[in-house]
Amino acid sequence: MIPTEAALFGIPGTLLFALVLLAGIAAFARTATRRWELLTVGGPPDVRWDRPLERLRGVLELGILQRKMFRDPYAGLYHILIFLGFMVLSVRTLSLVVEGLFPGAGMPFLPPAAWEAYLLLKDVVLVTTLFGVLLAYGRRHVWKKARLDASFDADLILGLIAFLMLTDLFAGAAKVALFPAVASSFEPVTASLSGLVAGFAPGTVFGIYAACWWAHLVAVLVFLNYLPFAKHFHVITALPNIFLRKLDAPGKLPTFDIEKAAEAEKFGVSKVEDFTWKQRLDIFTCTECGRCREVCPTHLTGKPLSPKSFTVDMRRALYGVADDLVDVGTGRADAAAEKRLEERKPLIGGWIEEETIWACTTCRYCEHACPVGITYTDRIVDLRRHLVLEKSEFPKEAQTAFNGMERQGNPWNLAASDRGAWTSELPFEVPLMCDVEDKAAVEYLFWVGCAGSYEDRGKKVSIALATLLHEAGVGFAILGPEETCNGDSARRLGNEYLFQTLAQANVETLNGHGVKKIVTNCPHCLNTLKNEYPDFGGAFEVVHGTELVARLFKEGRIALPTSVPKSVSYHDPCYLGRHNGIYEAPRDVLRAIPGITVTELPRSRDAGLCCGAGGGRMWLDEKIGTRINQERYREVEGAGTDAVGVSCPFCMVMLGNAAAELGGKTEALDVLELAALALPAHPGGAGETKGA
Ligand code: SF4
Ligand code: SF4
Repeated sequence: MIPTEAALFGIPGTLLFALVLLAGIAAFARTATRRWELLTVGGPPDVRWDRPLERLRGVLELGILQRKMFRDPYAGLYHILIFLGFMVLSVRTLSLVVEGLFPGAGMPFLPPAAWEAYLLLKDVVLVTTLFGVLLAYGRRHVWKKARLDASFDADLILGLIAFLMLTDLFAGAAKVALFPAVASSFEPVTASLSGLVAGFAPGTVFGIYAACWWAHLVAVLVFLNYLPFAKHFHVITALPNIFLRKLDAPGKLPTFDIEKAAEAEKFGVSKVEDFTWKQRLDIFTCTECGRCREVCPTHLTGKPLSPKSFTVDMRRALYGVADDLVDVGTGRADAAAEKRLEERKPLIGGWIEEETIWACTTCRYCEHACPVGITYTDRIVDLRRHLVLEKSEFPKEAQTAFNGMERQGNPWNLAASDRGAWTSELPFEVPLMCDVEDKAAVEYLFWVGCAGSYEDRGKKVSIALATLLHEAGVGFAILGPEETCNGDSARRLGNEYLFQTLAQANVETLNGHGVKKIVTNCPHCLNTLKNEYPDFGGAFEVVHGTELVARLFKEGRIALPTSVPKSVSYHDPCYLGRHNGIYEAPRDVLRAIPGITVTELPRSRDAGLCCGAGGGRMWLDEKIGTRINQERYREVEGAGTDAVGVSCPFCMVMLGNAAAELGGKTEALDVLELAALALPAHPGGAGETKGA
């Protein structure tokens, strides 16, 4: 005999369900508590609850609307379908739990009209979620993307999601077939499916109903308990991780109290528990989607660093000692747990090789691409800080750059007194700030940077910018020998001590002269002065040379009468584009030059490929895989233009070197050099690239 709807499984069934539910929830609560403890034991503090409205906006834009996912529209579509399924069907799961515990109670939390609207939505979403799962399988197995690795875990979870949808649909269909009175005109899919099972004997239909109902709810509990152990933990952690994401300028690295660290004799990260809780949450949250490596220069050129694998290795390192870490961190450990932790495989040299740590160019493509707000450069620099400041272990070439910065204030170790020598090639005088009596007449301090002061190609760009500013009548001065390296490379190579020394000296000099506005042509200088010097008391308005010149063009303050008949592609420097969001100004400058036609490279703007020099890599040998500058230069050559426009002295050197190494025809020219060629008075005028 078939029971009534109100007592579908009888009292034993209800009790059994209550027990299964309790066991499932208790198991999940235990795992979740352990994960919470793993997140919060030890590690330096990291405050992430400031600017709550901005954080919530990010959750809406990146988490709910999934803006970044739609950079791959196919993946964006299936992901949002599945995500919608999770959101909508969590209410459905709740209703089934209520049904299991209080048979026949219906859905007490919603008024009937809202419940009927929900039933319609639920029916549609069950089907769209199944469609999403099919598309996801297609992406993994038919229309594969190189960023995705074969993953049993991913297939298992997709299978489980499909199983949840099907069992839900068939449980509903069998219930309608058993009790036509519960049929709702708001469940069209369920009603149609009920026709499929209605022809069976009532006992069989009841069997289908019971099997699907139980299978669905047990699968929900299995799914819930599986999540914290696999990459699908992001189902739970992604939205919080996005809420707690970094809101500082993307290119800013965190500053720490170096004196305190020296007292504690602890610098950077050498063990997983040295990471901040947010860095550990990042490690929990990685979905292994591989978006971060699509334009990662090290991954593309065969280096050992691939951001996704870096995080997955860290996750293995963290989860491998999770219980012992939690027990030791919460004072519940025995001596054996402490011994196990002492004897574990080391993070550096065990889980992550040193050459992996040194490979990163800090280009930030990975962070920009990651849909769940995971950061990399902070973690990589933390590992470098440990190697440099605690172990004194770093590539020997870095020592030369460190010595130069320490002794002469520039990584080339050239005489500090020659810093302003490049100005002697100009037909007008560039004042030194220390000689200027009326400082109010100096609108901009021209921060020249080490490359602009000492490197041959960089000096030509400094001459071009100075000429353009002079032409526009902008009052500017330089620091000359008072300027020292901004410290960007030192910081990114892990030498925080040297960076902070340089930063403090520069801030003191700039504040001493009452500097308010700075123009620089080096994106690394721009990033450090604008985003990192405020931590040292330096609050300046910093603009890139191309930003200022583009504005001067718009204001009509510079006339460009000479045609420069060249086709030019444009290479986006990482520290100008992804780090500081400056994409248009260099293009505006190029477009304003008569005679120039501008072509976009295939990987450009926020997906631009790095030249290989950032993160201090400018000063290190590149011994593994293909050279990054050559990888980029091949793309430049492929554009078939006369020149590639750059707006960073490091990119200029790297692409110039690649042209020489590969015998390429496309010359690397700074955007401002090209602009200066169009001036009547410039020595390289009349549309030629003399001296470039
Ligand atoms: S910052 Fe750039 S080089 Fe470093 S891991 Fe990310 S994408 Fe790769
Ligand atoms: S770090 Fe972000 S982009 Fe990279 S695999 Fe993980 S989730 Fe995807």
